[in-house]
Amino acid sequence: MQDDGHGRRVRANLLGSGIISILIGMGWGTAFILFDRPLLAAMHVGLILFGLVLFWLAYHQRLKAASLLAGNFLPLFIAVSCLFDNVPDGVHRATQFHFLPVALGGYFVYRRDSIYMKYIVPALCLAGFAVFSNTSIGFQDPALVIPESAAATGVWVNTITSVIELTFIVIIMNADLSLRRMMDVEMRKAIANGDFELHYQPQFDSRGEVLGAEALIRWRHAKMGNIPPVNFIPLAEESGLIVPIGSWVLRAACAQLARWEAQPETRHLTMSVNVSASQFRQPDFVQSVSEIVRLSGITPSKLKLELTESMFVDNVEATTAKMNALKAIGIIWSLDDFGTGYSSLSVLHRFPLGQIKIDKAFVRDMLTNKSNMVVTEAIITLAEKLDLQVLAEGVETTDQLDRLRQAGCLMYQGYLFSPPVDIEAFGKFVPADARKVDYLQPHTEDVPPARQRSAG
Ligand code: C2E
Ligand code: CA
Ligand code: CA
Repeated sequence: MQDDGHGRRVRANLLGSGIISILIGMGWGTAFILFDRPLLAAMHVGLILFGLVLFWLAYHQRLKAASLLAGNFLPLFIAVSCLFDNVPDGVHRATQFHFLPVALGGYFVYRRDSIYMKYIVPALCLAGFAVFSNTSIGFQDPALVIPESAAATGVWVNTITSVIELTFIVIIMNADLSLRRMMDVEMRKAIANGDFELHYQPQFDSRGEVLGAEALIRWRHAKMGNIPPVNFIPLAEESGLIVPIGSWVLRAACAQLARWEAQPETRHLTMSVNVSASQFRQPDFVQSVSEIVRLSGITPSKLKLELTESMFVDNVEATTAKMNALKAIGIIWSLDDFGTGYSSLSVLHRFPLGQIKIDKAFVRDMLTNKSNMVVTEAIITLAEKLDLQVLAEGVETTDQLDRLRQAGCLMYQGYLFSPPVDIEAFGKFVPADARKVDYLQPHTEDVPPARQRSAG
């Protein structure tokens, strides 16, 4: 989930860094050829190549790879360039100024990344800036370093380009900050005004009977229209607003579950609710969930809480303890988006899970990618051995459904059956006679255009 505008600004930042690297590489590279400094010229050819690769990656939306490349290469390149920037007495070297935009841009690009990328890389850049500003460490051989005649101009060029880079980054960061502030205010208003709503996507078994639903939040904004969750959940996670939003979702979903439990024809339905990482990390998470469940009067085993693999990476003991505490009252844990993360299969037996949901990307690629199919079959077999339910998400075509069934997966959710719908529309899946859905006749009238796009 990176579609809240942050991704676009990260991309702009990386594209800009690529272009600036190419321009600087060409400028200095040419100058060093003229000054007869082949080693320095070759280094700048390297910088041009780096800029081209960075631009290509960012252009093709490979933002993770682009960020990783930029975060590791740029500080190193600047440090090495500083060693060659050996200026005559009376002139200050200025190559180290480039550390400042890289530190700031890095912090911005990696704000949602690992500690290493978010803090350590920018801190190393700042340390590099301090060291190279106050010392003259570097190569002393006149044949290797920048010629004296060019040193004074070089200082100006480096200072001006660093200032331009800084300005560019500050403009992008400011746009990001304004948008986040505006969304923060709007989300607070939406909480107070009750502008959030839940939609329910039905889940089916292999006989076409509805088993339950996943509750998915919807935001109807008076001016901005319908804002999809990917555009505001990541912002709510960063600002902490996910905590009140998440508990509203849980209360609303439990209230609906209680209404289903009160009717004989809907008594069997289960409800899946998404829990985000920062919500789960709240110290009172267990207590607040137990309280909501108790007050709603539902049977806890009908509630499934969905977590993603990223939550199992650190703090294993605390995570397990929280999961066990809620499992003890009957709540079922479901592992969402399985197959997209990089955690090992050991997650499946190390944590008290009751269900795994095979991610839609996996389901989509299953038919075209043979190894994906083999992995899916292995996962299903393993899950069976571990007594875990397996549900496939994003089932869009009957071909996918058939393959999943062959592989032994017996629970499904996806546009083939129904997109998420409001509670009134969900009602049509419920009466005993209409409960059976003929999945060979997809409900095309409901299916958003996205299905047509990704179904092929
Ligand atoms: P998710 O939990 O993986 O939810 C499934 C998403 O896939 C939903 O998008 C759903 O509309 C969409 N989907 C369902 N069937 C298909 C299909 O056949 N094909 C395709 N391509 N997509 C399908 P939605 O509702 O836009 O939600 C996006 C994400 O936002 C969710 O992904 C979840 O991570 C997050 N989210 C939604 N509601 C909540 C919430 O109440 N709390 C939290 N923390 N996150 C939420
Ligand atoms: Ca989910
Ligand atoms: Ca999912």
